[in-house]
Amino acid sequence: MTAPAPQWLDWTDADVLARLVGDSAEPVAGWRFDGAQFVVGDCLQIRLVKADVPFRVWIRASGSPGGSFRQTQHFLLGYQGEPPDPTALAAIDAIVSRVEGRETDVPAALLSVLGPPPPFRPRPLFPIEWIAVKAGLKSAARTIARRSDIDAVQSAAAEDGLVAVCITAPEYLRSFSTGKAGSGDTLVYLAADRGHLDAAVKAEAVLIEIAAAEQGGFVARLVRRLGAGDQARKALDAKRALGAALGYPPCCVEFFLARPGASNHALRAEALARTVGAPDWRLNNADFGNTLISHFVCSYGCEPSADYASAVLTEWSRVAPVQAHKLARQLKATVGGLGSAAD
Ligand SMILES: [Zn+2]
Repeated sequence: MTAPAPQWLDWTDADVLARLVGDSAEPVAGWRFDGAQFVVGDCLQIRLVKADVPFRVWIRASGSPGGSFRQTQHFLLGYQGEPPDPTALAAIDAIVSRVEGRETDVPAALLSVLGPPPPFRPRPLFPIEWIAVKAGLKSAARTIARRSDIDAVQSAAAEDGLVAVCITAPEYLRSFSTGKAGSGDTLVYLAADRGHLDAAVKAEAVLIEIAAAEQGGFVARLVRRLGAGDQARKALDAKRALGAALGYPPCCVEFFLARPGASNHALRAEALARTVGAPDWRLNNADFGNTLISHFVCSYGCEPSADYASAVLTEWSRVAPVQAHKLARQLKATVGGLGSAAD
């Protein structure tokens, strides 16, 4: 079992407000709380309202750059724009006393995410998978790119002590690509070392060869040599080996292989139909450009997939907390629409 992802990823705006200022039903200096927004890597923005006049107050971790109106042991407090009247500043002072009353047991995580995030340089093409490979959570990763991406991928891989192999295969990629992936002509594989890459590259080389034979009019020759059944078996074995090399759970690989030709939509719909209880938002793969996982799951409750997604989210939130929080919110917000995701 992997460690649970950091708790702050689950905090709502209201949770953070409650942790810092307590009961938001209770007005401060005649100002009523009218909502808050928790911005990871920045601050908690609080909306106050009095007689329809708004006033915005923010709270950041101390040590954040820039000035502030007030300071507590752990936090800086300030406001946006001009205070509408003197009671607005009194409201901040009232918030300061509330924060002071609560900050002795403020979680360290709250301090770390209400201040500037650690420096982060996103890696090219597939930043989350890249982080997963780098952290040893995934044996190898594969994506579809353009020839023009190769230099950036190779140099970033070298910087990170990883190995990238790029194979340009436009005809093969055209044979199954749709949508965004359809614009790529190059396969990119990434792993910690060459040994981990070879299994993926070799498996896909078989598929490229079969596709080339089918497209190039060599079918007759190939069928004579192998027989149609042998060829199908060879392709199936290669796909199975590719899935294993990329670290996909065997249950999900078999689910995928048992449904040849199924559309992405059909694969998601079927996984959803097989899900017991609510779908796990960490497995939300409605948009493969924004996911923790890069495979079709056998169900939205698949345990090995969820363990992996949780580990990736933990690592992603460590190196890129702002992006991790945004992704977690997006995955939660869209998990209900999985049945209608089309591409
Ligand atoms: Zn599975």
